[in-house]
Amino acid sequence: MEEKLFKEILKERAQSINIFLNEEELNQFYQYKDLVLEWNEKINLTAITDEREFIIKHFIDSLTIKPYIEDSKTIIDIGTGAGFPGIPIKIVNPNNEVVLFDSLNKRLMVLEDIVGKLKLSKVQLVHGRAEETFKNVQYREKYDIAVSRAVASLNVLAELTLPSVKVGGMCICMKGNNAEEEIKEAENAIRVLGGKIEKVDKFILPELNLERNIIVIRKIKQTPKQYPRKPGTPQKSPIL
Ligand code: SAM
Repeated sequence: MEEKLFKEILKERAQSINIFLNEEELNQFYQYKDLVLEWNEKINLTAITDEREFIIKHFIDSLTIKPYIEDSKTIIDIGTGAGFPGIPIKIVNPNNEVVLFDSLNKRLMVLEDIVGKLKLSKVQLVHGRAEETFKNVQYREKYDIAVSRAVASLNVLAELTLPSVKVGGMCICMKGNNAEEEIKEAENAIRVLGGKIEKVDKFILPELNLERNIIVIRKIKQTPKQYPRKPGTPQKSPIL
């Protein structure tokens, strides 16, 4: 797709969710898409290679959480993969400090290249497994907002994300359709880990008419020391 058309579609779709992208941001998104697709030939980053679909499923989907994020807050994107939703949020909120966190070092090397080429400042790349990293005082209960998309079911995700967030902070969990069952199954885990579901917002992705659920969990008290449990345990034996 031609650069001009790509930018027109992105600009228009973003406008439809009340996000107004300037020329510099459009350039960054265009370059970001090129870099992801280029790296994708060497390292598995995304199954979405159609550019229209890329705009909606990666960029617009990531941008749907912008209204939840205040300028001064620190953000950690847990299981960021190719940078979603952390990098799109960073592009439109340049003042936020953003940590891109993932357990796969190869993906972080790609992100280092992308962050450098897009000239994004106040971005930190951290390699580790959530189960280990958020035991460490350097990262535990440190961030205002944890964001996460397509990483685990909500009961597991709560254990991977809530330990990273300060009391008073929040986790924004991005989910597809039919989130109700997952939410019900995760209610106790969220409570045990010190969180409380504040709201669940439904969202329909433009053009593709796909339902998304944005689950906002407020951290209301400290996470007990025994969480997160050791790598693999949250997935094998989710808190019931
Ligand atoms: N968030 C991105 C997106 O929506 O496109 C990537 C999703 S990808 C399906 C899941 C990512 O989470 C992978 O990059 C994987 O390495 C990372 N991940 C899974 N479990 C993790 C854990 N326990 N700690 C840190 N990263 C993890």
